[in-house]
Amino acid sequence: MSFDPESVREQFPILKRQVNGRPLVYLDNAASSQKPRAVMDAMTRLMETSYSNVHRGLHTLANETTEAYERARASVARLLNAASTSEIVFTKGGTEAINLVAASFGRSLVAGDEIVLSQMEHHANIVPWHFLRERQGVVLRFVPVTDDGRLDMDAYRALLGPRTRMVAISHMSNVLGTINPAREIIEAAHAVGAPVLLDGCQAIVHLNVDVQALDVDFYAFSGHKLYGPTGIGALYGKAERLAALPPYQGGGEMIGVVTQDEITYADPPHRFEAGTPAIVEAVGLGAAIEWLEGIDREAAAVHERALYQRVVEGLNGANWLRPIGQAPGKGAIFAFNVEGAHAHDIAQILDRYGVAVRAGTHCAEPLMRRFGVTSSARASFALYNTLDEADAFVDALGRARTFFA
Ligand code: PMP
Repeated sequence: MSFDPESVREQFPILKRQVNGRPLVYLDNAASSQKPRAVMDAMTRLMETSYSNVHRGLHTLANETTEAYERARASVARLLNAASTSEIVFTKGGTEAINLVAASFGRSLVAGDEIVLSQMEHHANIVPWHFLRERQGVVLRFVPVTDDGRLDMDAYRALLGPRTRMVAISHMSNVLGTINPAREIIEAAHAVGAPVLLDGCQAIVHLNVDVQALDVDFYAFSGHKLYGPTGIGALYGKAERLAALPPYQGGGEMIGVVTQDEITYADPPHRFEAGTPAIVEAVGLGAAIEWLEGIDREAAAVHERALYQRVVEGLNGANWLRPIGQAPGKGAIFAFNVEGAHAHDIAQILDRYGVAVRAGTHCAEPLMRRFGVTSSARASFALYNTLDEADAFVDALGRARTFFA
């Protein structure tokens, strides 16, 4: 297979639009990516042809919809190379997947038990653990980040110990673009008997992830960054890990038997999918994964790195620029500040040129603090971006800068 960004672009109707009289240059992909026609069509087709609730009916539409929903689960299992589809729990996104583990696994934790996080975590992988600190006296330990944006692995090893109950770390940072050494992290955690949750919300979009090769215990991601719809994501959990977890939410579908006096619970994954799930969205996510299976993802990753490199080279020598995150081998995310300008102003001016970037804390306040800034702007690339768009961004940023020079 080869990779041609122009033919990929053709499949994303929104990329044809104009913003402020200019062609849209969409560089806010780490927040959410655009959707290919195949995803929209799959969702529409389901609603037009065989929509019903899942798992409850005996009629034809219920069976067809259940099959489509479970096929989507199989697609997620393939994406992650999970050993079994029953290791895949549908959630409403990465945030809910992490909350599920923190709430369910965390129930048995006691004061003084430790969770190891890092300074580069998204709030989605901090706040659910803070609940355990507030409510149960669990201690949170944060792996420091080096000046170039890597995890300090020596400090990480030193933080692990007999009280470590869980390590929860991002596979790829949504600000720095750093790809963390997952195998090393997992091996070290397992050596002290601690399971590992990887926040894969960014990594799943850009890397081939193999949960069995990683030997990871939990893996969380969202559909909407992976060219799928909002409202759907997944939690992978090793079979024995999921089997040991108590339910997260209660309701229909997650039970075995309910009487007035007692309940029994369904086996995973249904134990963790209380109520009617996001059926149409799950099918949309399945379609996104099938669509990606038709793409040479390694070639796409090379293309994304070339986009990032083009920006770095285009801005080379710009002494007014303060990039954040320069880890070797990092992904295609460019976070920066412009001297003398607020990141929000930069983003607004770029928008006038049709260039969409994010500005703010990126839900990573501890990381902002680590780098001594209150916010940053961020351009993040997807496989449908082009070298011309990278140039358009560099050009617009140069113009934006003149407002503050
Ligand atoms: N973790 C990381 C690394 C992210 O980038 C994001 C989304 N910005 C999340 C977690 C949360 O994802 P969601 O809002 O889709 O649940």
